[in-house]
Amino acid sequence: MADKEALEMAEGYIKSQLGTLNDLPRELANTIANVYYKFALDFLEMSDNSKREYFVPKSMNRKTGDLGELLKDFMANQAKISSDVEAAPKFVKGLRETDKYKQPKLYKYSVEFILDCLKYNIEKPQNKSGARRTIERKFKTVNEIPNLIDSMTFGGDSKIIIDCPNPNCSQKLRVPCGERLRVTCPKCKHVFEV
Ligand SMILES: [Zn+2]
Repeated sequence: MADKEALEMAEGYIKSQLGTLNDLPRELANTIANVYYKFALDFLEMSDNSKREYFVPKSMNRKTGDLGELLKDFMANQAKISSDVEAAPKFVKGLRETDKYKQPKLYKYSVEFILDCLKYNIEKPQNKSGARRTIERKFKTVNEIPNLIDSMTFGGDSKIIIDCPNPNCSQKLRVPCGERLRVTCPKCKHVFEV
């Protein structure tokens, strides 16, 4: 289950930096959503703990073991969260400058490259062949919430089916959910807001 406050924060941040993610392939949109979500969760956890005298991250409370190792893991995790959230808008900007219809191979390559960096955490993917990266992906543990994008109002394919409000028509219509829109029914031309 996603944390509601972190989810809202992540969504607001994504909208301000990138707009909606509807134009991106679903897998990538979900990875971007996770990058921002982890950042928001981390931020909320930090700000919550700072009220206390000592800051002890939740991830360290849960485990017992070598404190030095835990601290090392914690620092590496923090660094990854910050660098991902910094890199994400640059990646998306670059991808959006690539025409997916005119340069389909480059577009596909770029999407896979971004996933290797943000989702699979593969080091220096630019120095590795496609085959090598495909193998590496199989050995990586992906730390993300599947379908997180659906919990955000602009999520990938999140459309809802509604009936046209004209009682003489009742045509089924697919509309994006979470947005206020004016819709024209293609069958009876009735105009209404959702
Ligand atoms: Zn209608």
